[in-house]
Amino acid sequence: TFRAMLLTKDGDAVSANLTDVPSRDLPAGEVTVRVQASDLNYKDGLAILGKLGIRTYPMVPGIDFAGTVLDSSDARYKAGDAVTLTGWGVGERYWGGYAELARAKADWLVKTPGRFSAAEAMAVGTAGLTAMLCVMALEDAGLTPDQGGEVLVTGAAGGVGSVAVSLLSARGYRVTAATGRVASEGDYLRSLGAAELMDRAELSALKKPLEKERWAAAVDVAGGATLTGVLASTCYGGHVAACGLADSAALMTSVLPFILRNVTLHGVDSVQCPAPTRQRAWDRLAAELPDQLLQSGVQTARLEDLPRLAGEILAGQVRGRTVVDLT
Ligand code: NAP
Repeated sequence: TFRAMLLTKDGDAVSANLTDVPSRDLPAGEVTVRVQASDLNYKDGLAILGKLGIRTYPMVPGIDFAGTVLDSSDARYKAGDAVTLTGWGVGERYWGGYAELARAKADWLVKTPGRFSAAEAMAVGTAGLTAMLCVMALEDAGLTPDQGGEVLVTGAAGGVGSVAVSLLSARGYRVTAATGRVASEGDYLRSLGAAELMDRAELSALKKPLEKERWAAAVDVAGGATLTGVLASTCYGGHVAACGLADSAALMTSVLPFILRNVTLHGVDSVQCPAPTRQRAWDRLAAELPDQLLQSGVQTARLEDLPRLAGEILAGQVRGRTVVDLT
């Protein structure tokens, strides 16, 4: 048996319980992994609280995991290899990382970069990968630090936001961190390299189709009125990478930022992101992620803490990244 968080559904009610699961119940797959760490993302909060729309129960949640290979029928992996998995529907459609054992397709794994322990790979996790994919979207479009100007990050004190602030600052961008928690998280965001802090309410208050130009580029985790305000205040020729819906999945805007200011909106997905792009992102994370993020942007939790933390992350109260220790 192995210890796992199991989600079950009774009528409309989803409950999360820690149980010992027989190893024979592991799903089919090529690679069996001894999970050492998982993490907590916004989506995990939704899953644990029964709000993710999971179709098949029982489900082991946890969209990410890192550990060592126990057994592999795929030639790319052998026992003892350090591996990381993020996304691909794991923890949603396939059993995930909130368990001591996991089994997955070899195609879904990456070799954990040598710089990172399993816990550090999970300090990155889906949120960190997404932050890097946003940076790559902006830079592949031509953004460089020497152009000057301000780069905005919304949801800055959350998981994706913290990593984005940290990565962009380290590359020499002048980062403005928009947060609903200036008073409590301002010092933390400055420690990650933010040059300016901004109350996020100022963004959602921007209602005109075109507002004063301010951002050379932006990483947005919020959507909704926040993204509307971001687009309206992005400079001529600017780029916005949108990856989240912490504010809302809705987007009310006009075409004016696009047709009068040549603004480009880039969509960013980490779940189905193709393997070569993923590899490029992990290589860059291993090379560029500041130690400061791993030191001050990470808290460690156990499986039993997750029901409480699920409520906190959905309420926007979690700082940075949460690693789940499964050792
Ligand atoms: P998180 O740690 O909870 O961070 C979200 C942050 O957004 C919060 O900490 C808060 O930061 C801010 N926020 C909360 N409510 C808000 C509101 N009403 N308006 C504006 N900002 C608000 O979650 P995460 O794991 O970083 O994920 C962030 C978002 O990205 C989620 O919507 C998630 O689903 C999405 N995501 C998408 C992908 C992808 O592949 N596209 C991957 C990962 C995550 P402050 O307190 O600093 O304002």
